[in-house]
Amino acid sequence: MSALPIYLDHHSTTPVDPRVLEAMLPFYRGDFGNAASRSHAYGWRAETAVEMAREEIARALGAAKPAEIVFTSGATEANNLAILGAADALAERGDHLVTSAIEHPSVLDPCRFLESRGKRLTVLPVDADGRVDPAAVAEAITERTVLVSIMLANNEIGVIEPLAEIGRVCAERGVWLHTDATQVLGKLPIDLGELGVALLSASAHKLYGPKGVGCLYVRRRPRVRLTPQLHGGGHERGLRSGTLPVPLVVGFGEAVRIAVAEQQAEAKRVAELRDRLWRRIQAEIPGAHRNGHPTECLAGNLHVSFDGVDADGLLAELTELAVSTGSACSSATPEPSHVLRALGHSESRVRGGLRIGIGRFNTPEEIDRAGDALVRGVGRLREAA
Ligand code: PMP
Repeated sequence: MSALPIYLDHHSTTPVDPRVLEAMLPFYRGDFGNAASRSHAYGWRAETAVEMAREEIARALGAAKPAEIVFTSGATEANNLAILGAADALAERGDHLVTSAIEHPSVLDPCRFLESRGKRLTVLPVDADGRVDPAAVAEAITERTVLVSIMLANNEIGVIEPLAEIGRVCAERGVWLHTDATQVLGKLPIDLGELGVALLSASAHKLYGPKGVGCLYVRRRPRVRLTPQLHGGGHERGLRSGTLPVPLVVGFGEAVRIAVAEQQAEAKRVAELRDRLWRRIQAEIPGAHRNGHPTECLAGNLHVSFDGVDADGLLAELTELAVSTGSACSSATPEPSHVLRALGHSESRVRGGLRIGIGRFNTPEEIDRAGDALVRGVGRLREAA
């Protein structure tokens, strides 16, 4: 078997940290109980493990209570629960939602679904760096607005949104703010108090935890009441029925614990690798542009376009690298990214966008090999043109 390419697609997913896997394994072996079983030790042990994970995540977010964390199957489900659940719960108060043009499909699509069912939707534009203007949020809010949903950081260009300011705008107008923090948990400190959010989504597999588990933070004070979207046994305070995947929840908790403990050092190391690669690109590849915000950007994100180079052609050249042109979530559709389009760049820059996502286990040697590959690949494509 040929060697696998160097993994530089950490916005799409991350490998499970071996320490996380170790923490999970007992819950696939002897500790296989159902956390909702109240009548025996198998259930109690599972429940204790779940509650420890819940506490870990609540602490990482600065939540007032662990009970504010509702486990879901991932961020897609958390986003759907937040948006559909808020729209249902507040249907008598209003029918208007506000979001941004660069949200993940798991935010945009439920919003559009609601629009198709008669709700009103405002999709705010972003500036050329990908930032939402808090003043535009203020202008968009009406008497009928029930929810504003703006991501904390984008999964393609890594831009960090001015969420604390948007939170202040929403608080002044008494409107719930939801944020998709999937790309941020474990990468940057999150302080719920400072952000002023009512609802926040996250997913374990973006921070070296397992796939198939995530959470929605649902604020208690002031109280946020959602209408559940799954009906059944009443798990998770009735907000998300279904037997909890105990090993995955345990893995999520451990992944968060590690990410928080190592966050500062890791962000520094990853940003150094990213800057090293960008310096190399700038020095050796003329006509290279970085997409997104120059400073308000996730540490591991490098989104680049090369003049005259189509990203799909470049991907075919870069066989030794695992990188991507858009987000994996929408790569089933060959359309260029809605995020790059929203920045207002030229068609060729949009079609040339390459997303490089650097992560925990990447080494300087890998980054240098990635630099070699990019210099060679872009050179070959330009010669052939
Ligand atoms: N939101 C963002 C910003 C994401 O990057 C992703 C994953 N690509 C999701 C939501 C969906 O997360 P999950 O895979 O846990 O459903």
